[in-house]
Amino acid sequence: MVTIKAPRGVRDILPEESWKWSYVLKKTSRMADLFAYREIHLPVFENTELFSRGIGENTDVVDKEMYTFKDRADRSLTLRPEATASIVRAYNEDRMDNGQQPAKLWTSGPMFRYERPQKGRYRQFWQLDFEALGSNSPYVDVEIIKLAIDLFTDLGLSNLDVIINSVGCPQCRPDYTRKLKDYFRPRLDSLCKTCQDRFERNPLRILDCKNENCKKITENAPDIYESLCKDCRDHFDEVTQGLERLHISFHLDKRLVRGLDYYTKTAFEVLSGELGSQNAVCGGGRYDNLSDAVGGAPLPAVGFAAGLERIVLVMEQQNCSFGNEPGIEVYVISADNEARQEVLSLVSDLRARGISCDMDFLERSIKAQFKSADNKGAGYACIIGHDEIASGNVTVKDLDTGKQDSLKKEELFAFLTEGLKDGKRDR
Ligand code: AMP
Repeated sequence: MVTIKAPRGVRDILPEESWKWSYVLKKTSRMADLFAYREIHLPVFENTELFSRGIGENTDVVDKEMYTFKDRADRSLTLRPEATASIVRAYNEDRMDNGQQPAKLWTSGPMFRYERPQKGRYRQFWQLDFEALGSNSPYVDVEIIKLAIDLFTDLGLSNLDVIINSVGCPQCRPDYTRKLKDYFRPRLDSLCKTCQDRFERNPLRILDCKNENCKKITENAPDIYESLCKDCRDHFDEVTQGLERLHISFHLDKRLVRGLDYYTKTAFEVLSGELGSQNAVCGGGRYDNLSDAVGGAPLPAVGFAAGLERIVLVMEQQNCSFGNEPGIEVYVISADNEARQEVLSLVSDLRARGISCDMDFLERSIKAQFKSADNKGAGYACIIGHDEIASGNVTVKDLDTGKQDSLKKEELFAFLTEGLKDGKRDR
């Protein structure tokens, strides 16, 4: 029989890597507390319409990348490709408008997109997602960008590039779209097939095409800044001034677009050269019209999502610290078979005192047990055999110095508590 493997584009996060994820998630949670964002847990599947209306029919995500299926009652459901639409749905459904505004929320979890897998791009990937709903103040945009930067800095990331743009609003964008189309019309034949299609459906998206030729053509395309209405321009100026005030270096990138009516004003990304072609560590911006699009009341909002796999990739490449890999403090060894009940009981007593420990479950030799102690990073080994049972003592060995002692149980607990106080397992 053929052994069943995981589907293409998904992977197991093994313990050798998952402790690094935990480290990043712990730092994220700490940063969320610092910025007063509260955690929310959301379903991993939603009604398909939430995404088709909330992200937009004309996006690659909705058009080509969703995992959509029918449930047994013939409802169309979709594994979430992102968290923003769900957060807006939850805000409306759970009447968060009755609470403090803006509602500052964060979540993290797996997202699903049918994309071509490659380094830093998977079909199931983990996002850290921060959203502030209920305020149109440009200072919330500044705060959310600052949060992203502070998180990445706290994780030790360096050489990041912050790019920012404004995508206008439904008042001023039509004028810009007209100018763009006037610019691209005589150059249409030179654009790639996808961009030729975008010309009618969504001309703004031509600006972020990765095709080298299209990139060259877009270089001299009209700048959206010239077309922004007063409100959008003031907002953008306030955001950039706020970033300068907080000493966040950034540069303007007119190619950064979202190209749907729900996305408004600020758009930003944080890039890392370490990631190759999938270089975005995080992306975000304002989406003042998304709530209307999914049937809610108007709701100004801004947020970002960062890819956990990509953060860890950059951290590894930049030799950032992940803290200490978890290990045990003590390994309890059975010197002979009669000692196993005694070992079980000592392990239990040690754990009850908050000392992390483990024992052998394969009836292996003492030598093999010492090896396990070492592999698991234990600072001490406790040994119980025939002699110890007879004397009521436990032999304890410092695995760094090799020094050995024979102690009564109560003495042992005191000895270990003292010895582990200065973080011996953090070797
Ligand atoms: P987006 O929702 O497309 O703006 O993506 C936000 C962030 O999620 C990106 O900047 C990436 O860090 C991460 N991301 C998006 N798609 C993937 C994917 N297929 N695999 C891994 N990370 C991803």
